[in-house]
Amino acid sequence: MTDFAATRAQFHLPDGIIYLDGNSLGPLPKAAAGRVARAVTEEWGNLLITGWNKAGWMDQPIRLGNRIARLIGAAPGTVVLGDTLSIKVYQALASALEMNPARRVILSDTGNFPSDLYMAQGLCRTLGDGYVLKTVAPEEVDRAIDKTVAATLLTEVDYRTGRRHDMAAITAKAHAAGALTVWDLAHSAGALPVDLAGTAADFAVGCTYKYLNSGPGGPAFIYVAPRHADVARPALSGWLGHEEPFAFDLTYRPGGGIERMRVGTPPVLQLAALEASLDIWDSVSMADVRARSIDLTEQFVRGVEAACPALVLASPRDPARRGSQISFRHPQGYAIMQALIARGVIGDFRAPDILRFGFTPLYTTHADVTGAVRVLAEVMAKTLWDRPEYKMRARVT
Ligand SMILES: *Cc1c(COP(=O)(O)O)cnc(C)c1O
Repeated sequence: MTDFAATRAQFHLPDGIIYLDGNSLGPLPKAAAGRVARAVTEEWGNLLITGWNKAGWMDQPIRLGNRIARLIGAAPGTVVLGDTLSIKVYQALASALEMNPARRVILSDTGNFPSDLYMAQGLCRTLGDGYVLKTVAPEEVDRAIDKTVAATLLTEVDYRTGRRHDMAAITAKAHAAGALTVWDLAHSAGALPVDLAGTAADFAVGCTYKYLNSGPGGPAFIYVAPRHADVARPALSGWLGHEEPFAFDLTYRPGGGIERMRVGTPPVLQLAALEASLDIWDSVSMADVRARSIDLTEQFVRGVEAACPALVLASPRDPARRGSQISFRHPQGYAIMQALIARGVIGDFRAPDILRFGFTPLYTTHADVTGAVRVLAEVMAKTLWDRPEYKMRARVT
C-alpha cells in the first residue's frame, strides 16, 4: 500500500493553502531545491562541460524516461524526455502521418487542448498536399474513425471537464480502420493508471510539470511503441536524435529506437528537479493513486452539490469516466475562483465558465477537500465573489 502521509510530507505545501491545482502545476518536492542546487553548484559549477559525462547529463532524458514509463504502462527504453508538450505533439503526429502515407486526415475532438489542435493545423500547412485536421465532438470520435483517417490525435482526459476517452476501445477501433493513434497524456500521467503497452497505443506524449511535479517549464515526454521505434522518422531531426551525434555527419541518420525522438540539448537543471519528484513517484502504486483519487473527487462532488446548488457539475458523474479533476460551471466562474484563491483555496478557471479543481493523492487529503468545500460554500452563500477586483482578468487564468 502506498503511504500517502509519507508522500505528502515530501512536498513543500505553503501554510494556509489548500492546493487543488496540481493538475496545472505540481508543487515543489522538498528534495528538488537541494537537488537543483547540487546540479548548479557541484555539477555545472565544478564539473563544467565534463558534467555531460561525469554527472550523466546526456543519459538523463532516457534514464528519467524509464522511470516515467512505469507510471504509464510502457516498457523501459520506450520513453524519452525533452522539449515541451506542444513540440512533442508535433513530432509524434508528423511521424504517424509519414507512416500512413496514403491518408490525409488527422482526427481530433473539440475538447482537445488548443495547442494540440494548433500544432496539427501548423503541420497540415507545412505538409500541404491535402492534409486536414478534422475535429468532432468528443462523444463522436468513435463513430468518426473511418478508412480516411491517417492518425487520431486525442487527449485521454479533457483539460476542462476531466472527461476520459476509452483509450483501449478507440485505439482498437483506429487500428481496425488502419489508422495510427497519438495519445496526449497531459492529464493522465501521474493522475491515473495508463496501459500504453496493453492498449497497443502507437505514440503518446505528455508533460511533467502537471501531475509529475517537475516545476514550471519542465520538459515533456514522448513514447513510441517498440514496433514503430525503428521505423518512425523524426520530422524534427535534431543532432541528439542522430545515430552518432558526435560524428558530426552532414546528413541525418536517425538513432536507434526512442533515442531518435530526442532533438537538442536537454534541460539539465529542470531534469534535476524532475528526478527529485520521481524519487517520490518510485514509492507509489498507480492503482492506489487511482483509488484515493476517486475517494477524494467523490467527496468533493458530494460536498459541493450539497452546499452550492448554483454550481453545475461539468465532469462525468461516473468516476470511471473521468480523470483526477472535478469541474463545475457557473457564469461567474472566474470571479468565484478569484474569491477562492484570495481565501487560500487554489484551483483555476478555464473559459468560458469552468471552475477546475485537481485532486492529486500524493499530497491532497480528505481534510483539504472538507476545507475547500467549506470555503466554496461560504463564497457562494454570501456572494463573496461579487467584487470588482475578482472580475479583472489576469494574463494567466
Ligand atoms: C498542458 C497541456 C499542453 C501544454 O503544452 P506545453 O507545450 O507544455 O505548453 C498541451 N496539451 C495538453 C493536452 C495539455 O494539457
